Amino acid sequence: MQVQDIIIIGGGLAGLIAANLLGKAGKRVLVIEKKAYPFHRVCGEYISNEVRDFLMKEELFPSDLDIGDIHTFQLTSTKGKSVSMPLDLGGFGVSRYALDNFLYHKAKKNGAEFLLQHQVEEVFFDDQGKKFILTLGDSSQLCCNHLIGAYGKRSKVDKFLGRGFMSQRSPYIGVKYHIQIDYDPNTVALHNFEGGYCGINRVEDGIFNLCYLGSREQLRAAGTIEQMEVDFLWKNPFLKSIWKNSEFLFERPEVINEINFSPKQPVENHILMAGDAAGLITPLCGNGMAIAIHTGKLAAEALIKFKERNEIERFYTSKWNAHFKQRLWVGRNVQRLFGAKGVSEFSVSLIKRSPFIANQIMKRTHGEAV
Ligand SMILES: Cc1cc2nc3c(=O)[nH]c(=O)nc-3n(C[C@H](O)[C@H](O)[C@H](O)COP(=O)(O)OP(=O)(O)OC[C@H]3O[C@@H](n4cnc5c(N)ncnc54)[C@H](O)[C@@H]3O)c2cc1C
Repeated sequence: MQVQDIIIIGGGLAGLIAANLLGKAGKRVLVIEKKAYPFHRVCGEYISNEVRDFLMKEELFPSDLDIGDIHTFQLTSTKGKSVSMPLDLGGFGVSRYALDNFLYHKAKKNGAEFLLQHQVEEVFFDDQGKKFILTLGDSSQLCCNHLIGAYGKRSKVDKFLGRGFMSQRSPYIGVKYHIQIDYDPNTVALHNFEGGYCGINRVEDGIFNLCYLGSREQLRAAGTIEQMEVDFLWKNPFLKSIWKNSEFLFERPEVINEINFSPKQPVENHILMAGDAAGLITPLCGNGMAIAIHTGKLAAEALIKFKERNEIERFYTSKWNAHFKQRLWVGRNVQRLFGAKGVSEFSVSLIKRSPFIANQIMKRTHGEAV
């Protein structure tokens, strides 16, 4: 079997950033992605500015798209109380459909190779040969020296590796639409409802992303997504008004379940885990994409800087822990403030009375510029 140098499982943000940087550095890299670009994903599509300069510097910022700045945060409570505040860092909105497709074409130009519409099902590390053997859905096998796991929050690979979180059921579902609406283009809003929260912000071409984290229980009780939205989301008058005044652009929403925020390890079975595969920050912080980009960069750096496996793993683990461990912990705890009855009312009042405290919490979920 021919031995590849570096394989990346998954071509989301983490995988595509790593592929671009490794390709630029002259490394031979193959990305295996189970879908074909371009495609939609469940994501709020609001990116924190902590990665903007890095993307610009690496010529990975999609400047040709009509992307606006987002600098204001609006929070509404389950009963419809509202507060707005300036964002400390701010950000921008861009659809994953456009961004991932842009980064995919860039990565090909930078020398990365792609195997699309193929799913990795098993990964085995051969301790004697010091190589990874990957088995794909069609039973074919590939072999490589180094492996980045950038396959998102949950994958067949996790099941094969027996990662702990795979045995826990998650109470959440994620739902995403693209809509046309007359709404403030510079605001990212988070509207609470009992059991969840819904974000809205502009992406490119004047389109808005409407994305929520809801509860599996509520979906079961309501029977359909549409009925759940009427029964639960619309109790917040801001959400009812958004639904009533929007043109929905998808035939049906993008929906995912099994969204698990449990802690994970950044290196497992010698695989450098990047993006959500190493840990998913709660979406309300709007930082998952920035973390995916940053971890993709760190994984590439580790493979460019070091030759020995133990040095690569030590560098990556220490950087990952220093940059992300606390942020993910804060995210998990802040999330407990949302969706619960009465608690979002308290949060809105707290921000009204003490914007300083809200700013401090927000800062702790952000990282330093990449
Ligand atoms: C409801 C919701 C809203 C969110 N909103 C925001 C937001 O507004 N802002 C923000 O910054 N973050 C947000 N996030 C988080 C953000 O979407 C993720 O953190 C980010 O997409 C992680 O990128 P990734 O590259 O790790 O994974 P992904 O983008 O999920 O990419 C993983 C890729 O791997 C592929 N793959 C999976 N398994 C295999 C396999 N076995 N073989 C081959 N390919 C495979 C998949 O097809 C996919 O393309 C949100 C998340 C949720 C759930």
